[in-house]
Amino acid sequence: MENNTSEGKEGVKEIVTIKKTHLAFLTNLPLQTKPLETCAILIGKKNKNHYNVLDVLPMDNEDKSEIRFTINEEKLFAVYKETESNKLAVVGLFHTHPSMPIPSKTDINYMEINPIPWIIHSTTIQKTKCFIHDGNEGVKEIDLIVKD
Ligand SMILES: [Zn+2]
Repeated sequence: MENNTSEGKEGVKEIVTIKKTHLAFLTNLPLQTKPLETCAILIGKKNKNHYNVLDVLPMDNEDKSEIRFTINEEKLFAVYKETESNKLAVVGLFHTHPSMPIPSKTDINYMEINPIPWIIHSTTIQKTKCFIHDGNEGVKEIDLIVKD
């Protein structure tokens, strides 16, 4: 069974690729929504462990909060429906923190329900990190590859 080790779930590392222009657009969003937390849905294609972001869709923060965000469920459902009809997938969620770019307790709960890549951008230290909830291992940081 040695040949199959690379096919197993263990040891597989998820990666996310995003265009430089898309990431710049996302990290500039807080300038418009300030001081509220910003959120966006990332749309693209998933191939095995590779999430490729092809489009970014800013969403209103229903919470109107500086420290948390909620996306309206009906709007979220509409996005999922349209994405599917375009043969694409929701490949990630983006939101900002006025603190360190690490998932909060609330984030972790939602990440477990929605195990897709979560990109968190810190508006204080201007750093962007990407995480995913792996059923067994819990939350882990994954690579976010920025391309031209
Ligand atoms: Zn958060």
